Amino acid sequence: MKIHPPGHAPSRSGSADWFTGQVRIDPLFNPDAPDRVQGALVTFDPGARTAWHTHPLGQTLIVTAGLGRCQSEGGPVQVIRPGDVVTFAPGERHWHGAAPDHGMSHIAIHEVQDGRSVDWLDLVSDSDYGADPLDPTG
Ligand code: MN
Repeated sequence: MKIHPPGHAPSRSGSADWFTGQVRIDPLFNPDAPDRVQGALVTFDPGARTAWHTHPLGQTLIVTAGLGRCQSEGGPVQVIRPGDVVTFAPGERHWHGAAPDHGMSHIAIHEVQDGRSVDWLDLVSDSDYGADPLDPTG
C-alpha cells in the first residue's frame, strides 16, 4: 500500500503547444512497472481545452467540478457535468475542456505504453470549440 499525500508532486501548467487557455495538471499517481495506470486532476479555466489527441490505450475521465465540453472526431460537441464518466477508446481522436463561461475539473486515468500516454494533434479551432453543444441532460 502507498498513500500519495496531496502535493506529493508539483502542479504544472498545460503547455500552449497542446492546450488552449489556462490549464493546471496536478499529478495524482504514476505507475511503477508492471503497473501502467496513471492519474491526474486537470483543471481548465473557462474556454480552455486540450488539443485534439489520442491515447494509445484509451482514457477515462471523471468530471469532478464545473461545466465542460468534449468531442470525439465526427461527433457533436457534448456537455459534461460533475459525475459524468467519459471513456475514449484506444486511438479515438478527441478533445476535452471547460465550457466557454465555466471552468471544469476532471480526473483523467489512462495507461502508459512505451513511456507514452497521449499523442498530440492540432489545437481545437475556435469554430470547432464554439459549435452548439449536444446536452443530453440539459
Ligand atoms: Mn484525452
